[in-house]
Amino acid sequence: MNTPNSTLASAADLPSLDRLLNDPAFAGALSQYARSQVTAALRTHLDALRARALRGELHRDELLAEAISKSIVDALMLHNRPRLLAVFNLTGTVLHTNLGRAQLPEAAGESVARVLRDAVNLEFDLAVGARGDRDALVEPLLCELAGAEAATVVNNNAAGVMLVLNTLANRREVIVSRGELVEIGGAFRIPDVMRCAGAKLVEVGTTNRTHAADYADAIGARSSLLMKVHASNYAISGFTANVDVAELATIGRAHGLPVVVDLGSGSLVDLARWGLPHEPTVRETLAAGADIVAFSADKLLGGPQAGIIVGRADLIRRLKKNPLKRALRVGKLTLAALEPVLALYRAPELLAGRLTTLRLLTRSVAAIQAQAQRLLVSLQNAVGDRYDVVATSMASQIGSGALPVDTLASHGFSIRAIKAKRGSLDRLETAMRGLPKPVIGRISEKTLWLDLRCLEEAHEAAFMAQLHLLRQ
Ligand SMILES: *Cc1c(COP(=O)(O)O)cnc(C)c1O
Repeated sequence: MNTPNSTLASAADLPSLDRLLNDPAFAGALSQYARSQVTAALRTHLDALRARALRGELHRDELLAEAISKSIVDALMLHNRPRLLAVFNLTGTVLHTNLGRAQLPEAAGESVARVLRDAVNLEFDLAVGARGDRDALVEPLLCELAGAEAATVVNNNAAGVMLVLNTLANRREVIVSRGELVEIGGAFRIPDVMRCAGAKLVEVGTTNRTHAADYADAIGARSSLLMKVHASNYAISGFTANVDVAELATIGRAHGLPVVVDLGSGSLVDLARWGLPHEPTVRETLAAGADIVAFSADKLLGGPQAGIIVGRADLIRRLKKNPLKRALRVGKLTLAALEPVLALYRAPELLAGRLTTLRLLTRSVAAIQAQAQRLLVSLQNAVGDRYDVVATSMASQIGSGALPVDTLASHGFSIRAIKAKRGSLDRLETAMRGLPKPVIGRISEKTLWLDLRCLEEAHEAAFMAQLHLLRQ
């Protein structure tokens, strides 16, 4: 170091903590943060300064109260910044579990904001002035939309399946096709959930073929119900056979056993209406004879995380009486978000405009392509000449186990690093993740892919506004 010694400070020059706290330079920090937070941050900072002084690296101007105060405020800001951030999901997977699945529509945000700070009629029946049931806030709406007798809501679909099995099949047998013993996202495996719920799994059929007789033959004195699980994240093709809900319901009725369907994503409307692949709807499944249908609220439905269970009134009544229901119930924020999302389904013609998930799934490839053309030059300028940005077609996925095989034609960018100019894809991807509103893409084949399907026009300006921060 060739700095003249006169500008270097020694440990003895360090100001005292008390003197600093009383210095006017700290008024700002102390008005923003608690004294205990400022004191703790200051102590850490002074320790660091002392260590540098002992190494002969500390400059006198670093000891000015203003300089120290600025360091403290920066450190406190960094330490206290929210960990949960809004991000740009450019992964191409619309319902991305790691990115929070469904993006909620405006109506849900407004509803949550409306009730957040107030006391609410969560379990209070305003019509009679007495204690009520929190399910009653959405149950009529769910029954109307699904053609169900009754409904209940829990924390997520895994909880829903667990509640159903624990209530209807504890210490008894549940008959499931081998081809439906699925694992969803690692943590949810049907056999494990079954065991946790206290039910005994009876597998029937083979991986690729299960027939009606397989179920009928397995029914015995300890049988509690017949279960069907939507093979969410994979498809079996070729020489296959499975028993549909209607056929299963016939067998169930003949033996007095309820048929339970874990529909996974479960849609309340037929997506074929918008040119998307058909996914069995909750109404169809009930109409085909299912006694209970469980599904997620934050997959195709486009709502908050929750598990919805609809079906026969006598069975739903039993679910509500199970003490597990109390442990798995949803809070007011979830119900505040869920109610307006469900209400959107009353106007199916307007749904693709209003429900964010459906709006994203139905964006035309032409619109996405035009958007890519519009943003191309700015993005190339922002990442600089170490990278080659190309607007290209790609395929989006719906995600969250819905319609696993079908993809949606989309458009976006493929970005490659130019080695000769010392570009690094990892560095660029890290920089994108570090933006104020992080941009999350996907790296494969030494290419960073940014799928624009989930970048709606309304968010384009915000996306562009932070691009300059990428310049390296
Ligand atoms: C997604 C899924 C689940 C789990 O639902 P969560 O809402 O994530 O708990 C269970 N079963 C099937 C078939 C699914 O697709």
